[in-house]
Amino acid sequence: MEWQMTHYELQNLQRKCPRGHSARDNESSRKHRRLERSLDDCIRCIDSAKLDKACIVAIGINTYLAVVEWDGLDEQHCIIVPNGHYSSTIQLDENVWDEMRIWRKGLVAMWKEQDKDCVFMEMARDVQHGGHIFVECIPVPQEIGDMAPIYFNKAINECEGEHADNKKLIETKDLRRQIPKGFSYFAVDFGLQNGYAHAIEDVSSFPVTFGHEILVGMMDLPASKWRKKEKMELSKLRQKCEAMKKDWDKFDWTKKIERDK
Ligand SMILES: [Zn+2]
Repeated sequence: MEWQMTHYELQNLQRKCPRGHSARDNESSRKHRRLERSLDDCIRCIDSAKLDKACIVAIGINTYLAVVEWDGLDEQHCIIVPNGHYSSTIQLDENVWDEMRIWRKGLVAMWKEQDKDCVFMEMARDVQHGGHIFVECIPVPQEIGDMAPIYFNKAINECEGEHADNKKLIETKDLRRQIPKGFSYFAVDFGLQNGYAHAIEDVSSFPVTFGHEILVGMMDLPASKWRKKEKMELSKLRQKCEAMKKDWDKFDWTKKIERDK
């Protein structure tokens, strides 16, 4: 399946890009500053010196795509990241949110060509003082993709003990309307299908590795895949990223962006 971003989709992303707005427009310049907010010591902020550029596959308007810096669940295990520092995708402006969806469409099409399904996961922990959010994108064999909703459903229903206050399993329709702002959460989608979310009640006891453990179990990978996420050697990381760029090239919607000269 060949996927091409439609002209309408691109226009929509660019029209809403605050960079295009007048500097006198107070609301949009405020937004602009917020989007540009970058933390010097953050490894995900696009302007931070700590970001490992060797991981970057492609850069969009307000987001970028990167391979994971550790030995992921697959060679093409990658992340979609907002350029600016946000702790959850729920806080994102509409155009940034939409852009994150565009990457997903391209990745789904790319992996479909390889006869693979995929899972998208997001862990927003400690949203109040939080880290930099990203959406993990993990290609999986078709049969794992078929079974994944059942496994995640069960795991979410069984997490955080018997007496959690909120309904544990949220069937996602529009995440932004279903998780209150300021809440920590875990969310998973299956390909372009809506999946599940869970509002985390006790961040201190909720495993960082929640989604990884489930997938590692399903795919029969060694437990070290989720226990130790050691950073890869730079040369191997570069190789992994180059290979991903090659596959991604055909689906790379970012080539169509009219960049500021
Ligand atoms: Zn950051």
